[in-house]
Amino acid sequence: MNPKTGSDPWIVEQHWDLTYTHTADPVTATFLRTLRDEGRVLGIRCPVCERVLAPPRPICDRDFCETEGWVDLAMTGTLELFTIMYLAIDGLPDPPYVLAYVKPDGADTAIGGFLEGVDLSSTESALAQLEIGAPVTIELREERQGRITDLYFRLAS
Ligand SMILES: [Zn+2]
Repeated sequence: MNPKTGSDPWIVEQHWDLTYTHTADPVTATFLRTLRDEGRVLGIRCPVCERVLAPPRPICDRDFCETEGWVDLAMTGTLELFTIMYLAIDGLPDPPYVLAYVKPDGADTAIGGFLEGVDLSSTESALAQLEIGAPVTIELREERQGRITDLYFRLAS
């Protein structure tokens, strides 16, 4: 009940099934093309704060200036955060699976993606394997499509 109006919330259920075309900005296009064609993960440097942003973006979110200067990132990194998905979502794998943000070595920001190879047979076993700060490897799909999902993460053993 809304205390201001004294009424229950009005809830409308909708279903969206959208197909759309997205045009990547030139910086993102270079990142995705290099990932697909050369299997390299790039970051880009901000000339003001000197952070290396990954994934690369045309504008620094801290300084609002144009970024410049490509940086090859290591195929290793650190687990920054994760969530275990138990809800089925159209267009995503059957649950459960792990979504994670990983900061590649040499970058100051994190890339989101799938963290694979985690035993998800129980939440307890999954949580026993997942630790913020854990070392991670950045892996590439055999067949890449020029999407961020061309890469994924694994816990380093
Ligand atoms: Zn900056």
